[in-house]
Amino acid sequence: MWSEERGAGLPLDLVVASDRLPLLAAQGVTWQVLVADIDAVAADEHARLAQPAVADKGGDWFAEYRDYKAITTHLEELTALAPGLVSMQAIGNSLENRPLWALKFGGSAPGSTKMMVNGTQHAREWIAAMTTTCVADRLIRGYATDPAIRDFVDHTELWVVPVVNPDGYQYSWSTNRYWRKNKRDNHGVDLNRNFDLAFGGAGSSGLKAAENYRGPSAFSEPESAAIRDLMLREKFALSIDFHAYSQLLLYPWSYSSKPAKDRDKLAAIGDRMASAMYATHQVSYKLISGVELYPASGSLMDWAYGEAGALAYTIELRPKGPGGRAGFVLPPSEIRPTCDEGLAAVLELRRSYR
Ligand SMILES: [Zn+2]
Repeated sequence: MWSEERGAGLPLDLVVASDRLPLLAAQGVTWQVLVADIDAVAADEHARLAQPAVADKGGDWFAEYRDYKAITTHLEELTALAPGLVSMQAIGNSLENRPLWALKFGGSAPGSTKMMVNGTQHAREWIAAMTTTCVADRLIRGYATDPAIRDFVDHTELWVVPVVNPDGYQYSWSTNRYWRKNKRDNHGVDLNRNFDLAFGGAGSSGLKAAENYRGPSAFSEPESAAIRDLMLREKFALSIDFHAYSQLLLYPWSYSSKPAKDRDKLAAIGDRMASAMYATHQVSYKLISGVELYPASGSLMDWAYGEAGALAYTIELRPKGPGGRAGFVLPPSEIRPTCDEGLAAVLELRRSYR
């Protein structure tokens, strides 16, 4: 099940083996084919990325998707560009020992607000890795000339973790484009069900083969534990977790339909964020509480809000769903506009928090 927006009367993006379609028909389910062959789409993308010209693309780094190694190099280059503004450090290591890289922006003024922006808990959501890296890039390159960016950077201690799940991300590049979980054993764990708030509840599975397998215990995975440790240490006031796809802006709770204590505040700020995102390219992001989507227990967002005390949001980036064309395989021409939307959300969350 690919679409993030699910509910009665709504269409659903579903991956089905072609020989199973008669079973759907027998149940009276109607459908239209969005993508006839998702493996062919992935193979086309893989072939495009293998072309030597891709590495350069006229020097525009955000004209194409980049793997973990290229992202790491880009983060190093950004740090070298503005050593007084930003520093780079690992906040932990993955199961396969890849560093979870973070860029930390200063916040030179006293009383700076602490904020975390992360992406790519889910491996196949490549646009989340590009958008978070791009947000960091924009903040660094825009600092000297853009007053809104300068104001943000000067008054925010921002941590950006573009790839929370580097093992899964690399696997989605090398082997299975549609891989979601980390690389625990041969089944993987859904990191966004591995956090310790309502761990084990609705919308997570105890079955290892399930796409939303929560793992044997909360924080059993080094990647989610690294985020936990960072958040407990830094005590962020604000948090955005980037995902794809469906064009949604979500606020707590995800595990329960009971209203969050700060529901009105979360919704009001979220409304301003959605407006700021829309203002960049007139693309709509729908604002709803996580559980209105479908229940999900053990998520980063719920834990960040309920246990770490942050005003926390999840953003499902482009494309729109249901009916989201090729879903996770978003055309590279949409990286920059999606980044504009992500940056607008980050800046507006900080602005609204004052
Ligand atoms: Zn996701």
